[in-house]
Amino acid sequence: MTAPENFPTSLPRVECLIQNGLKSRILMPADPAYAARIDSYWCNSAKLRPSCIVQPRSADDVSKAVVALAKANQPLAVRSGGHTNWAGSNNITDGVTIDLGLLNSTRYDDTNQTAHIGSGGKWKHVYAELEKHGRTVAGGREAEVGVGGFLLGGGNNFYASRYGLACDCVIAYEVVLADGSIVTAKADEHTDLFRALKGGGNNFGIVTCFTMSTIPSGPIWGGLALHPLDIFPAGIKTVVDFTTNNATDPDSSMQFVVGYQPRFGGGVCITIANNMAAVEKPPLLQAALALPEIMSNYKTTTLQEVLTYSSLPPNYYNIWFTLTIKNDASILVKAAELHNQMTKELQAGIPDQDFTSHVAFQPLPRLFVERSHATNASGNVLGLEQNTSDAILIQACASVRTAELEAWARPKVRALVDEVRAFASNIEGGVVPWVYLNYAHSSQEVLQSYGPENIRRLREASSKYDPEGIFQRLCPGGFKISALKN
Ligand SMILES: Cc1cc2nc3c(=O)[nH]c(=O)nc-3n(C[C@H](O)[C@H](O)[C@H](O)COP(=O)(O)OP(=O)(O)OC[C@H]3O[C@@H](n4cnc5c(N)ncnc54)[C@H](O)[C@@H]3O)c2cc1C
Repeated sequence: MTAPENFPTSLPRVECLIQNGLKSRILMPADPAYAARIDSYWCNSAKLRPSCIVQPRSADDVSKAVVALAKANQPLAVRSGGHTNWAGSNNITDGVTIDLGLLNSTRYDDTNQTAHIGSGGKWKHVYAELEKHGRTVAGGREAEVGVGGFLLGGGNNFYASRYGLACDCVIAYEVVLADGSIVTAKADEHTDLFRALKGGGNNFGIVTCFTMSTIPSGPIWGGLALHPLDIFPAGIKTVVDFTTNNATDPDSSMQFVVGYQPRFGGGVCITIANNMAAVEKPPLLQAALALPEIMSNYKTTTLQEVLTYSSLPPNYYNIWFTLTIKNDASILVKAAELHNQMTKELQAGIPDQDFTSHVAFQPLPRLFVERSHATNASGNVLGLEQNTSDAILIQACASVRTAELEAWARPKVRALVDEVRAFASNIEGGVVPWVYLNYAHSSQEVLQSYGPENIRRLREASSKYDPEGIFQRLCPGGFKISALKN
């Protein structure tokens, strides 16, 4: 939508964009399209009000916006799918939000079986386009999640035991640097940037297009099962055993969730299990399938359908913390017990019970790291190879209806994770240092967890590709390399 003729352009951050030829790309606060874009953030905490939104239609537009804002020294944020939950990650009060939502095309190249994917796309659209060619990619496990943030943070996906994390399946990045130049980073071109973008977030530039290797698509087998809450120790045993034995069946994946979900009747356990080769009831998932259940919908199905099983409702204030631990059942049981205790506190403090909470246990076997290396010999910056044992990624969440409740519930979720960490630290190798960017709270030490060698890589890439520190100084959202103490 074009900005109206008479809109206020007195703010330098709006003026500089207009002077650089972007007037038709600007949405001002009075514009209904501005309200719709703010409303489309998944989490209420992220619905800040920037001075304006600029919606580039090409990498060239992104370049013009970056050059204009850098020259005028104006604050900015970068948004793709808008699914990060914490305030200021992907949006900015009194600054300019560069909204990549119109850079959402997916193009399949049959000559080398790659997909060129715009950063602002949603995974459901990416998969729908690639499916026309009988192909898919190792992308998000939920329909609405955006391409850009997911891939720049790592990307846990259904194919991780075959191909590793999604970032390792990216073979080229089109990036707009702080000086406005548009470069391609790939294994043999800007190799340092190529590596730094695999887990380094928004520290180096704005990625406009990701080229990913594709894999054959087809039917899959899988679904979701609800279990009574009290079976959680047995469910935890299934996910621990699955993680240990994942290498025997790299087409299967599962996660086990202990939660409070009113849409499923309150306290409940959930298994999400799939086999991407469409093997029905594969042996590795037999124990999970045998858990006592309230209902399940396992069947031969499509990727599009299973994307809905990880959906979490929009328009809540969400609190997410994460922790990576050794694949040890006693730690998971502790986390589940602490979650159930936290739920009781939330129930007591939220009279209408309009909240959800969960701890999700996601396998992170050594296999993922090995597969990442096999897919991408250039490496990433996540530092997962520091850990030599199978691990579990814990995602602890609460979702409430108001900012006040968010402030009240946040310390409870934080305390849950802190207590699990304290418990795990009494077990040899119990705490794995890695903090997953895509699940982390803003207060968590994400980049620090990548290890000194990767921090050095990140710092060097930042100084080389953004020597004036534009993405450090003017783009405060995200996990910043300049914020690291040492
Ligand atoms: C319901 C739900 C399901 C999820 N499922 C999964 C899952 O299965 N696996 C998993 O790994 N994660 C999952 N996530 C987490 C998800 O990966 C992150 O929230 C991710 O950041 C979302 O990507 P986005 O494009 O929507 O990010 P945004 O919120 O738009 O951006 C996230 C961060 O990346 C930066 N950024 C975005 N695009 C660019 C770009 N092109 N260039 C530079 N910087 C950029 C932003 O500035 C911001 O700091 C899920 C989240 C939700 C809410």
